[in-house]
Amino acid sequence: MKRKIYSTLFIAIVGTGLISCKKEELQISTSISTTKVVDEQETKVGKKLNNPFAIDNMRNAYASISNQKSLLKLESNKLYVKFLPMNSDELNKLNSDSLILSDIPLDVEVNQYGTFYNDPATLSNGTTWLYTTVDLGYDFGNIKYEIIDSLYLPNEEGFTQKSKNLFTTISKDELESKALELAGYVDESKNEFENKTTRHRPKGYIRVQQSINGSNLPVPVKQLKIRSRWWFDYGTGYTNDNGYFECNETYKKNRKVNIICIFENPSVNIRAIKGTQFWDIFFTERKNIGEFENSAMESINYTFNNSADVNSDSKRKWMCCHAINSVREYNVFCSQNNVMAPPSDLNMWLTNANSKGNSLSIYASAPMLKQMANSSFLLDAIQFLLVFTGHKWASVSIEVLKQYPPDITYNYSGDAAAHFTHSDRITQVFYHELAHASHYKKVGISYWTSYITYILKNDGYGESTDSGSGRIAISEAWAEFCADRFAHLRYGVNTSIGGITWFDKIENFMPYNSSYWAWRPEGVMHDLIDLGEPFWLTNVNDNVSGFSISQCFGAMDADVISVNGYKNRFIAKYGINQQENINTLFKSYGY
Ligand SMILES: [Zn+2]
Repeated sequence: MKRKIYSTLFIAIVGTGLISCKKEELQISTSISTTKVVDEQETKVGKKLNNPFAIDNMRNAYASISNQKSLLKLESNKLYVKFLPMNSDELNKLNSDSLILSDIPLDVEVNQYGTFYNDPATLSNGTTWLYTTVDLGYDFGNIKYEIIDSLYLPNEEGFTQKSKNLFTTISKDELESKALELAGYVDESKNEFENKTTRHRPKGYIRVQQSINGSNLPVPVKQLKIRSRWWFDYGTGYTNDNGYFECNETYKKNRKVNIICIFENPSVNIRAIKGTQFWDIFFTERKNIGEFENSAMESINYTFNNSADVNSDSKRKWMCCHAINSVREYNVFCSQNNVMAPPSDLNMWLTNANSKGNSLSIYASAPMLKQMANSSFLLDAIQFLLVFTGHKWASVSIEVLKQYPPDITYNYSGDAAAHFTHSDRITQVFYHELAHASHYKKVGISYWTSYITYILKNDGYGESTDSGSGRIAISEAWAEFCADRFAHLRYGVNTSIGGITWFDKIENFMPYNSSYWAWRPEGVMHDLIDLGEPFWLTNVNDNVSGFSISQCFGAMDADVISVNGYKNRFIAKYGINQQENINTLFKSYGY
């Protein structure tokens, strides 16, 4: 957990001097989508399109090119449907069935891709239709739905004897081309026979502005899911550590393929509390970056830009980029430093729901509620960490949060400089919470239940004199130490914390000062590793050196619930030879 108070954390060292970073700012070409993509505006749709895959059109196409029209008849193999889920249970069923849901109809012309879509059929309570395809025989349960079209999708056909017979004299490509032609898509059909092998694979780079001290540098977005779609033909891909992706589907000539960036991967699913429509926060955060065709889809470039407006969609997406990057980077640093990685499949929630003058005291936390699968304090934790009772979005948010309990939360509605302006500070906070998640993985549910119970009872960290504060002291010391060391590996001298590095920050931690943080010995693990104490003002007596981040984590055992317990475990496991100096070090921290 991290509190809002940043107080005297960042002590500039006299004599370090100003280190200016002069990295060239890359000029990235703007998106080359054939459709206008705008931020902070609504998605605008045009006319309804003729569906080439509707069964009647496909049958006509088959009949016009086949000599077997009297013998065989195409049968539908998919349904194009729309659902009207009325609550989060119904939405959850659709999600559990792995349906790819869209709030925009799949058979309309899109004139402008914005950040939200107001379906004319949306109900007054915000409930909206969701569009997808399902198999024949799909169990609709009690959810309200309508079948829009019965479809024949050539690539969905299985290898039944019947389907083989259908394509003995004609190919599926020929059928699809004829269907497009009959439906009026002359451009999309006419090139079929000129060069059947020309197919294009969606690929390119997704980046985010790294903002530090007013400088904006495009850097890769890592492990971001990319979805491509042309009609009912989908592909997926993930960006790598260079921000580069390739989708696992190719598309023929003149096909306008829609590309969506989705903030999820096997390590984390990122959601955000935002508007009032429950289906909107139900989805993982995503950004539609428009339509691409032919060679343009092979050189996609999109950059998530920062925004000064904390309530904007751009800011939320920019924060999500930091969240997904932090998870990837943290996992790599864990691997390099032999620290246990957090559980996979984390639920991460971002919020600025409290930005209208109703601020939560906690701005980031690692309650691990999904991982623990313990619902006894779910509601209390949600209200304390993400959205308080009485907030206009509370009831809607809580309904969805119950389906997707948060493991890690980040509230970016607070202090601008600390919470949502500088990339290095935001990332350091995510690393801090992920370091808690590693700790959770090691110590398990029972330890974490006590940790969360203490925080809820004491409205945060409480005081050093509160019963159970030892668990907080050592947990926070680990998380902040790990976060600072990893942030230093990531950012080096390029920081926003008053001319010092994150390494300096943990080195300069001052026990005994008047800071809110003083009773949590944040610097002590760093002092187990480094040589001496260069900054005399800290009053730390450090004659210990030579240990590793891995060993610092190694002593965070399930039965270690105090700073002294940690010290004794560390000595027993790794530090017999420096026992006296380790005792002296911890004593200078007040333990
Ligand atoms: Zn913490």
